[in-house]
Formats: sequence, C-alpha cells, structure tokens
Amino acid sequence: MTDGRPLILLTNDDGIHAEGLRYLHLVASKLGQVKIVAPDTEQSAVGHSITLYDPIKAHEVMKDGVFYGYGISGTPADSVKLALYSLLPRPPDLVMSGINNGSNLGINVLYSGTVSAATEAAILGVPAMAISLAQKKDPPFGWALTHIELLGRWILEQGLPRGVALNVNVPALPPERIKGLRLTRQGLSKFRESVEQREDPRGNVYYWLSGQGTEDETSDEVDITALAHGYVSITPLFYDLTAHSHREELACSLKKI
Ligand code: MN
Repeated sequence: MTDGRPLILLTNDDGIHAEGLRYLHLVASKLGQVKIVAPDTEQSAVGHSITLYDPIKAHEVMKDGVFYGYGISGTPADSVKLALYSLLPRPPDLVMSGINNGSNLGINVLYSGTVSAATEAAILGVPAMAISLAQKKDPPFGWALTHIELLGRWILEQGLPRGVALNVNVPALPPERIKGLRLTRQGLSKFRESVEQREDPRGNVYYWLSGQGTEDETSDEVDITALAHGYVSITPLFYDLTAHSHREELACSLKKI
C-alpha cells in the first residue's frame, strides 16, 4: 500500500548492499515513501543492458531485521523495469539511482549502469536522477545528502520534461564548501585508454582494460570542469541518440549517391 506521500524508487549499479544506496535511502526517506529494487551484485559499467535470455529472480533483502528492498539477479535497467511493471503498487513519482561510488562524467555516461537506470525510468515516463559522488576510495557519501535532498524536492515539486533524466555528480566536499549547482552539458573529451596484456600462472594470455580521463575542456558548462571547480554538475540527458545537427548535411550528401 502507499500513503499520500510521493513514491520514490531507489536503485543503483553498485548492488543492493552498497553503502551509497544506504545513504540515498536516508535522504530519500525525508522526501517520501521509499522502495528499493536493485541488483544483487555490483553491475558497474554494464550500461543499458537488459536480461532477455535468463530468468530474473527477485528476493527480499532485510537490514537489521526490517524489509529493505528487492535484490534482483538482473541489471540496473532491469531493476527499473521490474519495479515499474511488477514490484511497485503504482508508478513512482521519482526514480533515484545511486549514490554511485565514483563520478559518471563525459563519455563514461554511456557505460554507466547508474545513469542507465535513470535513463530507463525516463524512457518509461518517470522523472529520474542519477547521482554519483566523485570519490572512489572511502567516498564521503554523507556530504552529498544536502544537495541530493534539494534536487529531489525540486524535481518532486516541479517535475522534469518528459523523457529527461538528470545526471548529477557531486564533488567530494563538505556541503558548505560546494560552490553551487551548475547546469552542464556532457563532456566529450577522449579517454587515454590502454589494454594491458598479462599472462596467468598457466601461461594463458588475458587483458585488463583501463582508462584515464583527459581534461582538455575548460568551460564550466561541461560536466567534468564544473565538478573539478567545486560545483554540483547537473546534466539533463535525453535518450534520443540521433545526430540532429548533422542530419540535414548527411541527407544532402546522400542525394548525390
Ligand atoms: Mn557503480
């Protein structure tokens, strides 16, 4: 059953037992009635993948003897679909995904399970935000709660344009040292990537992918830069991947074939 308060679905890609989700639960509980549906295990960098060729299992997860949420055997995008189509009593008023352990900026947005859960909600017509904290080791999640509460309340009051999800990245700073909120665009700077080739004890070759972000963009309009300068970066995302600005030029060129 739901009471009169807003219904908020929480999910993530770090798994239902992640500390970041526990902090998100704390802050979301101030905004409404909270339901959690999240992957059983860590699913970082699975992007927008969904499970079509295996059954998806959901089990009840308890914390301190109280029902906490549903852990599912699928991906972040699966979690949102399962919640909306089956596990929730009604469509939620807001979906919050996170708090991710580490930022989701620039090109990385495409690989992010955290962001994909929010995008999936937007596709299904529910206002959504992905939240990431820009520190991978011992992330101080508590510092992000002030701004998450502000933004969550704002979305619940104002709504979002249909189909739009917010990608929110919070700097790892105490709230009083954060300079403010910046509406940004996704950075496009390339990653310095490498593939390391190694050998296992049996002589078989295996590989490790790794990458380092480059900071060749300097405008505070860009997510990476705004965050580096101490702002909460908020990028509105839309799932239409069409290159609209090049459609006309390509259409003209096609005519000449
Ligand atoms: Mn993650």
